[in-house]
Amino acid sequence: MQITVLGSGTSGGVPEVRCKCETCLSTDPKDKRMRASIFIEVKGKNILIDCGPDFRSQVLQNNIDKIDYILLTHEHFDHTFGIGDLRPFGDVHIYAEENVCASVRRTFPYCFAEVKYPGIPKLTLHQISEKPFLLDDIEIIPIRYMHAALPILGYRIGNFAYITDISSIQDEELAKLQGLEVLIVDALRKTPHFSHFSLEQAQEFSSKIHPKTTYFTHICHSLGRHAEVSKELPFGQHLAYDGMKVEVRS
Ligand SMILES: [Zn+2]
Ligand SMILES: [Zn+2]
Ligand SMILES: [Zn+2]
Repeated sequence: MQITVLGSGTSGGVPEVRCKCETCLSTDPKDKRMRASIFIEVKGKNILIDCGPDFRSQVLQNNIDKIDYILLTHEHFDHTFGIGDLRPFGDVHIYAEENVCASVRRTFPYCFAEVKYPGIPKLTLHQISEKPFLLDDIEIIPIRYMHAALPILGYRIGNFAYITDISSIQDEELAKLQGLEVLIVDALRKTPHFSHFSLEQAQEFSSKIHPKTTYFTHICHSLGRHAEVSKELPFGQHLAYDGMKVEVRS
């Protein structure tokens, strides 16, 4: 299984528009972070997790020409507003919880109209719950957690898990995350935030589930420059960056 990080940035991306901080002015490509999304190649299938406003650029930069399935974590714009750009991919199957499906229908009503005009994305929404399900022979294990007051889902596939936009999680859910090779988890910045893990909270979470390697994502400019923060991280922990590829034994 191969994971490509298409975007490792928070909702405003990095650089943040109009900001002149050290991170936003950095010329290091690893300090350019598009909105959070990953692309998974597993058992001959291509799975996208989240489809944010940078989707078109992400597809072009990573030469993605087939998407079999899309998993959505929640309805926030930075995770769903690329859905309008799915047209070139033909029939697209999107898996999300009921409230997220409803939000996609509200945001893109013309894609679900009885009489559709030509040239719109062909979307099929599949409502999921916390129960594991199969996409062909690939098992998807949803992980429930809170994003401030909003209950949302992360996903485990084989020995890999993607947990973005998390502020808290019940201990019972941690059992589903044991034995991971690779964890990608939200770490917005160093100071606490009401709807995201800080770097310290993400490290605490990682230490409870002991993945072999942890990558931090959904990063805000105030976390600091990639090169500087990377030096501070212990063995087995890294900042994700756009275009990063990770091989996971499934
Ligand atoms: Zn987000
Ligand atoms: Zn900045
Ligand atoms: Zn969010």
